[in-house]
Amino acid sequence: MRPEILFPLFAEVGSLKGVGPRTLPLVQKLAGPLVRDVLFLAPTGVITRRRTTAIDAVEGQVGVFDIVVDRMVAPNRPGAPLKVRASDDTGFVHLIWFGGSPQHIERQLPRGERRLVSGKVERYNNEVQIVHPDWIVPLDKGEEIPAVEPVYPATQGITSRQVRKIALSALAAAPEFPEWQDAAWLAKQRWLGWRAAIEALHAPSIELDLEADAPVRQRLAYDELLAHQLALARRRRARQITPAPVIRPGVVSEALLSALPFRLTGAQDQAVGEVRRDLASGEQMGRLLQGDVGSGKTAVAALAMADAASSGFQSALMAPTEILARQHHQRLGPMLEAAGAPAILLTGRDTPAERREKLAALASGEARVAIGTHALFQDAVRFDRLGLAVIDEQHRFGVNERARLQAKGDPRTGGVHLLTMSATPIPRTLELTQYGELDVSRLTEKPPGRTPVATAVLPLARIGEVAKRLKAAVESGAQAYWICPLVAESEAVDLAAAAARAVDLRRLLGAEVGLAHGQMPGAEREAVMADFADGRLPVLVATTVVEVGVDVPNASIMVIEHADRFGLAQLHQLRGRVGRGAKASACILLYGGEDGGLGETARQRLETLRRTEDGFEIAEEDFRLRGGGDPLGLRQSGFPAYRFADPIRHRALLLAAADDARLVLGRDPDLLSERGKAIQVLEALFDWKTERAALD
Ligand code: ADP
Ligand code: MG
Repeated sequence: MRPEILFPLFAEVGSLKGVGPRTLPLVQKLAGPLVRDVLFLAPTGVITRRRTTAIDAVEGQVGVFDIVVDRMVAPNRPGAPLKVRASDDTGFVHLIWFGGSPQHIERQLPRGERRLVSGKVERYNNEVQIVHPDWIVPLDKGEEIPAVEPVYPATQGITSRQVRKIALSALAAAPEFPEWQDAAWLAKQRWLGWRAAIEALHAPSIELDLEADAPVRQRLAYDELLAHQLALARRRRARQITPAPVIRPGVVSEALLSALPFRLTGAQDQAVGEVRRDLASGEQMGRLLQGDVGSGKTAVAALAMADAASSGFQSALMAPTEILARQHHQRLGPMLEAAGAPAILLTGRDTPAERREKLAALASGEARVAIGTHALFQDAVRFDRLGLAVIDEQHRFGVNERARLQAKGDPRTGGVHLLTMSATPIPRTLELTQYGELDVSRLTEKPPGRTPVATAVLPLARIGEVAKRLKAAVESGAQAYWICPLVAESEAVDLAAAAARAVDLRRLLGAEVGLAHGQMPGAEREAVMADFADGRLPVLVATTVVEVGVDVPNASIMVIEHADRFGLAQLHQLRGRVGRGAKASACILLYGGEDGGLGETARQRLETLRRTEDGFEIAEEDFRLRGGGDPLGLRQSGFPAYRFADPIRHRALLLAAADDARLVLGRDPDLLSERGKAIQVLEALFDWKTERAALD
């Protein structure tokens, strides 16, 4: 329920002074539907005005001139500007309008009268001109022209000044709230109280006040981040109090562990420990297992599934592609079965008879593990006692799909534990904003036996050399991926380029070269990939279909054309396809096309890749290089639509807010203390609960 003190801010924006029927839709579009939204609409700039004269005026500054009107020159043809010639004691000032009404302008600037006129100074033939003056007043009204004027977002039909008026009437409606921030923290930061901060937001005096590190911005960003982290922490708590089956390791787990052809790494051991603690807690697990390609996530998941089987529960392992589901089934199926947990593979390609049989095995509980693709969500898929859902490459699935799988649990035994896995290491900030409700385990250590990948960055012009060395490698039994990205406007052009590259390479190498891309019929593509996986094809030219999960240990060379067009994370993933066997591996990043150039940021990005193979380090660096002020990029990386916070520039605040939120809810889960009550107001003010996209 919304606290009463917030009602004025949650009124419709139409109730504000200055919003009429014509401007209402414009304000709604600029700010949002509520008074609060206008209140949160920050100025984007500041105009500073100075009294000046025709001789002293500085180009680019906003000047206020004390002028006498000489005459008006109406446009002599359509499209020509309307001009007013004026002067002060030092020279001429030309005022210019495109599309102004002569009558209206003549009324404001009658011939022979003295006026104060303000506007941005341009110089033309060394005379001052002002296009569309922003103020024109008689001499005795000079104080109406503000010396400092915040600039608001505006749009066709509503000016910055109108928006400012509306923002100020929203400000008048803003109450002071009981302080929700910790007093000591507030004092340490030397931040203003909320009411004073929001007032200052609308009264910047210099551009610096608008920067992310201005104290007022920081205070409001922190409020916003804390509210968001509280909402996430609450969801996390809600999940934790959902009862779920108590799952403990047992005979199946032991049998599986001893059947694994390797010993767990320290990082795997730790992750298994974290998962086991969750599974045995009686609370529902929600855990994200992060680790580079090849870091050994599958073994962790397999042990969790074996634990479930040991405790009499079934598990589902969902993979985004059929190839991956098959690979999981091929590798895990026999081991699980031998350990006492029969596993079935469910894909879209089963015959009706096969499918019926598999579904029956799941429904009866005879099959303990279901491995599959989206086919697992379908209503016909029923479990006897589903206790654990594992989702591989979680970013490929939506929240709904995850929920549908979890809904297949048995109400008698409680919620279904969730383990999601991601091979895309993400920066801590993104982890907190996107997956704040999940607990995270990180596999930071690679299994032994992986060979480092030597990475080179070369211009595409040196492709001949690359092909020559590739030929030698292939002749001595190596296998290589050759990635051609989609870069042209038209996919057809790109595919043609990839096909042409395959032909080139066939000729240059004198060897078989396969081609796989996203537009091929699934069966055909999988046949090519299978030929490559089995070593029948030495070289595979591909668009980005190899991105996800496929494991070909003998492949030791990765060539990526137009590497500068890829995201760092994607390049890192692609490179992760090699270095999996005993052979020394190489990754060659070819940049540029005919023009061959490479910008500074692009160069730094590729250099990062050359320097390190640590996915977490690469993710942080990628993030840093993107810099702040890129809302589009940030949203694409999964950031919620913050109004004040910038996850890059406010990184430290975000980390602090996440700690703070968990601390607050840990100490006072129902928010009943003095600060707790104030925090309820904060949460309701930002209202992240209803901003679903931000939380999913
Ligand atoms: P990913 O994290 O990409 O899913 P996988 O689980 O597929 O990685 O593991 C990659 C490869 O490493 C597999 O061939 C697997 O058998 C092997 N592997 C996993 N854990 C270990 C380990 N502790 N020691 C040696 N090899 C391991
Ligand atoms: Mg995997």
